[in-house]
Amino acid sequence: NVATGTKWVLGNWKMNGRLASNQALLAALLTDAQVNVAHVGLAVPTVYMAQVAQTLSGQPMAWGGQAVSRFAADGAYTGEVNAAMLADLGASFTLVGHSERRQYFAESDEVLSAQIRHAREAGLLPVVCVGEGLAAREAGEHEAVVAAQIDGVIAALQGSERVVVAYEPVWAIGTGLTASLGQIVAMHEKIRACLLEKLASSCTILVLYGGSVKADNAADILALSEVDGVLVGGASLVAEQFSKVCYGA
Ligand code: PGA
Repeated sequence: NVATGTKWVLGNWKMNGRLASNQALLAALLTDAQVNVAHVGLAVPTVYMAQVAQTLSGQPMAWGGQAVSRFAADGAYTGEVNAAMLADLGASFTLVGHSERRQYFAESDEVLSAQIRHAREAGLLPVVCVGEGLAAREAGEHEAVVAAQIDGVIAALQGSERVVVAYEPVWAIGTGLTASLGQIVAMHEKIRACLLEKLASSCTILVLYGGSVKADNAADILALSEVDGVLVGGASLVAEQFSKVCYGA
């Protein structure tokens, strides 16, 4: 597990931002020595990657993509952006399988596995997002759902030195509902056990939590030894809030 002081904080801007507001947000984050560190990263919209890459150039803070094409090779894939392009700009990671990608873009295990493979080939760290919906949680099927999501991409993760999984219960994303600390601990233990069972023992496993992480709950979540970091949506768009989340890491 990642020790306190170096836990990961990844912001996910989703489909938000403009040149001017991005610049103001980045400027505020860069001047904060507890935020501008290598274990803090931002997943940004593709169209603003050049801006973010230029602004963060030479800085410790990392950035990455929110998704990546399932196609590796350049060519006739209109509208797509491949992992090699992200790496070319200096991205260090990409989210894979965020629940909004699974829901609105029907990204299947097969598609996500291709994205993971291509990200790895391009030298990007895939941050694999998993999480159950409300119905599964209420039916007591949450562990089975998440285990199946991991199983669906495990082959693509084989041979990784480091595997990062973000547990984001869908019912907690953007809703203001956060999973209880007990729910987080139980699921993180389950995820770690699933990965340990199937990956080489030399593999470093990090499990992040996401879902309505805010300034006022981040420290308690980050204090859990089962939590290696957090993935932050809404609160990553406000410098003051995101900074406070980072202070808990
Ligand atoms: P939220 O989003 O923090 O706004 O709930 C988290 C995420 O979807 O990564």
